[in-house]
Amino acid sequence: MEARSKARKQMSRVAAKTGPALSGEHAKARSIAALRKQAEGCERCDLYKNATQLVFGEGPLDARIVLVGEQPGDREDLAGHPFVGPAGRILDECLHEAGVDRSSCYLTNAVKHFKFEQRGKRRLHSRPNAGEIQRCSWWLGAELEQLRPDLVVALGATALVTLLGRSVGVTRNRGELIDAPAGYPVLVTIHPSYLLRIRDGEDAAAQRARFVEDLAKVAAYEADHGAPRRRRL
Ligand code: SF4
Repeated sequence: MEARSKARKQMSRVAAKTGPALSGEHAKARSIAALRKQAEGCERCDLYKNATQLVFGEGPLDARIVLVGEQPGDREDLAGHPFVGPAGRILDECLHEAGVDRSSCYLTNAVKHFKFEQRGKRRLHSRPNAGEIQRCSWWLGAELEQLRPDLVVALGATALVTLLGRSVGVTRNRGELIDAPAGYPVLVTIHPSYLLRIRDGEDAAAQRARFVEDLAKVAAYEADHGAPRRRRL
């Protein structure tokens, strides 16, 4: 109880609103596996048409921490798993340095199909639009209801919009724990792909260190809330 109130004190006083994923309007199913099965046939927006496959969230069913990214990238689209490309590798390293065990986290994306522009043989990432984010929140909202995590990490602007609408911003609120209306806090940070785009070596190192600092708040929060639950996929 004391730990919980300590964690509450660490939270930002930003009055967060509810984004589409936390609006209560989402898919209904008895399990994550059943949700994934439903989502495999999803045609709620056009993104399924060009993507190779659905990339649904993955991780332990008893995960206390859920990390939400933007959408699968080229590697994820081909592999069918989230965060297995270059950004996922940076995320792994930074989680490790921050003292967070990735294998105990559930990793997912705001949008479940890869959106890209074809340039010759290359498929270049294209940011999902507001309509696509809104449509795909149908699945993220259901994942969060199934998992009922202790803490959600919003990796970048798309994740933040789907969780908390436009009441919170990555630049403005980075590193803050926002007390979300859903009943668990949302930690605001960047998407690891941002680190891959920084050209200046010094700036890249500084931003990476700050990302590790942000993620260290996950480890601190976990420590405040006791031993992890055990019920794996
Ligand atoms: S991106 Fe989301 S909403 Fe659009 S088709 Fe894929 S699963 Fe459905």
